[in-house]
Amino acid sequence: MIYLDHNATTPPATAAVQAMLNVMQSAWANASSQHGPGQDSKRVLGAARATVARVLGCKTVEVLFTSGATESNQLAVRGLLAAAEPGRRVLFGSVEHSAHLLLARTLAASGVQVDYLPVLPDGTLDLAAASALMGPDVALVSLMAANNETGVLMPTAEVARMAHAAGALLHVDATQLIGKLPFDFASCGADAVSLSAHKFHGPKGVGALLLRQGTPLVPQTPGSQERKRRGGTENLPAIVGMARALELLGDVSLEAERLSALRDALEAGLLQAIPVTHIWSRDVPRLPGTSYLRFGQLSVDVVLQRLDKLGVAASSGAACSSAGSEPSHVLTAMGVGAEEALAAVRFSLGCTTTLAEVNTLLAQLPPLLAPQLQPELTTI
Ligand code: PMP
Repeated sequence: MIYLDHNATTPPATAAVQAMLNVMQSAWANASSQHGPGQDSKRVLGAARATVARVLGCKTVEVLFTSGATESNQLAVRGLLAAAEPGRRVLFGSVEHSAHLLLARTLAASGVQVDYLPVLPDGTLDLAAASALMGPDVALVSLMAANNETGVLMPTAEVARMAHAAGALLHVDATQLIGKLPFDFASCGADAVSLSAHKFHGPKGVGALLLRQGTPLVPQTPGSQERKRRGGTENLPAIVGMARALELLGDVSLEAERLSALRDALEAGLLQAIPVTHIWSRDVPRLPGTSYLRFGQLSVDVVLQRLDKLGVAASSGAACSSAGSEPSHVLTAMGVGAEEALAAVRFSLGCTTTLAEVNTLLAQLPPLLAPQLQPELTTI
């Protein structure tokens, strides 16, 4: 199988799995228990927290363990908002993860004034519009660091300056960035940052919210753990697996360069073999391994079916439901029409991807798509 869906999830690192197994067998006691085994688990938890803090450039008190980015995003927005003066506005990025946009709509339905930061047709943030939306009545801005579909990087440092100048806090969903590009909480400018371990070779169902020390937050699951900011017995094996995965990342820039080169080779090869290929956000800063494209207006269902025949796992940009497929909200926000958006295919390369795989795809996919593309090719 050629796995090109690393933005959806990544394979867990063997050493992370091993670390989890060790903890499940040896440190299974509750880290809140006063007895010896409990205190042993507490030490394991503390060591994992120290590792996460060291790798991500924050203090240990700034790390809150959660069940993943969805929860971290909710905790950040609901928790920071509940601690702010009532009646103030919230700004959400318009191309945030779909679960996060559901939260935005839920807040709006409950009476919170929500505004959306628009993007330009190339998928980058419209900074002029962002600046116009900012104001002293804004309590919080929630913006992703990198988009999961296009891979486009958002100017979070600049937005942090804008938000702080207006007296607002900034929450950043860095789920797609951490593990793929260098990240440092101390210097990133955000007040809160979400991450999910399975995006960087850790286990699923665990993540963290990094929260700048001294930032008031109202817990959304009250309890004694995580300094009373997130209750519930800690998922120690998963937390240790996440810490080990972070530690294993090392300097991510070398892998970023390798993946950028492979992605560029894939895109150049596809453009040459299938001239009706259109690549979104190709000329703007993107995550290294992400390629979001369409082959003319060939339905993504047809493309994914052919890819499946070749043993290639990729993803569509459509949100599927039993009622059918909806065009991607990201592409829609970029001004892309429904027909083109429903042709969107996302390739996301990662640690398993090799040049040989890219070459196999380039040799085998164009002939499989050619019969479907004939009507389009004759019109160009
Ligand atoms: N934010 C972004 C940008 C994501 O890509 C994802 C995962 N697709 C999430 C949040 C949610 O992460 P999780 O499902 O691990 O909670």
